[in-house]
Amino acid sequence: MIKLHDKYFKPFISAQEIDTAISKMANDIAADLGDEVPVFIGILNGSFMVVSDFVKKYPKPCEVTFIKLASYEGVKSNEDIQRLIGLTQDLTGRTVVILEDIIDTGNTLTEVHRIFKNEKVKSLIIATLFYKPEAYKKDYKLHYVGIEIPNKFIVGYGLDYDGLGRDIPEVYQIKTTQHMTNLVLFGPPGAGKGTQAEFLKEKYSLVHISTGDVFRFNIKNETALGMLAKSYMDKGELVPDEVTIKMLNAEVDKNADANGFIFDGFPRTDAQAEALEVLMESKDSSINAMIALEVDDEVLVGRLLERGKTSGRTDDADESIIRNRITEYYTKTAILKDYYSSQNKYFGVDGVGSIEDITVRLSAVIDKL
Ligand code: AMP
Repeated sequence: MIKLHDKYFKPFISAQEIDTAISKMANDIAADLGDEVPVFIGILNGSFMVVSDFVKKYPKPCEVTFIKLASYEGVKSNEDIQRLIGLTQDLTGRTVVILEDIIDTGNTLTEVHRIFKNEKVKSLIIATLFYKPEAYKKDYKLHYVGIEIPNKFIVGYGLDYDGLGRDIPEVYQIKTTQHMTNLVLFGPPGAGKGTQAEFLKEKYSLVHISTGDVFRFNIKNETALGMLAKSYMDKGELVPDEVTIKMLNAEVDKNADANGFIFDGFPRTDAQAEALEVLMESKDSSINAMIALEVDDEVLVGRLLERGKTSGRTDDADESIIRNRITEYYTKTAILKDYYSSQNKYFGVDGVGSIEDITVRLSAVIDKL
């Protein structure tokens, strides 16, 4: 992902795909024009990369020139096309091929046709690397199209966002949702995830989702989901992935405008981690870090028994259930450390000490992300 000015963009079309599309266009045009020596005309500024790569691949003699038109302001195509540099040579009787980087509304093409109306060219052919069919509002024939793309703003390969991005060799697409910070707060039961999440969500303006809390809310309200989850939770076992993942997706969707999330108690299995990745991708986002609170087992058991005196949680009241939850953690959940470590996203934090000290330790990790 890249940031240009205030906006974020994600990878969209690779340099290799562009190269293949340009080769095909060059060969198709060369085959169709036979012995004709065409004049290729690039529309500046955007087309400079396309024209350069295109003519290098064009297998026959040709001429190249440019005209300069301006139509974009920010991310919106502008009706008002300005002609900054017009035609500088006589093209009477010539076969002219306009080489465009992108055609979206087609406003630029109107200006091109206006320019050529009084030129006595033999033929005027339009070729474009990128084409947005959903945005195109004109009737001019497009003779050659490299790659059709959806109607979303793109940068790179000659295309800019307010001056930036033209130099990038591949194409990026604007992100539809704003940049989010998404954290997985990790650690065994009793590590202090819920307590710390309360502080961190305020400090970083994030939405806190605790799957355990959502299940308990459902149990309290006697929903079908609650009844299902209760049978597992009472034994200290994990609720099945299918149920948990569906619930988590719904919780995230309820907070479409969030700056990001603190996931507490999720993911707990490989399948959940993979589902979370898919979910984040669908939001044009990702998990930035898994931050783990590291606490010794015996300290955990002591903390949970203590909490059980007041929490009203049946799974905190009984030492054997507590130990089962810790076992579930080590057999099914702890493996996720490797999952996030392999992406350089795992950060361990000492979870023993005062609540304030631990918040400071966690903040130090988050501030560096
Ligand atoms: P917690 O409040 O995080 O300690 O969770 C309490 C209980 O809720 C767990 O012991 C599980 O039975 C259930 N639970 C919470 N989150 C998940 C999850 N991500 N996957 C499966 N079960 C969960």
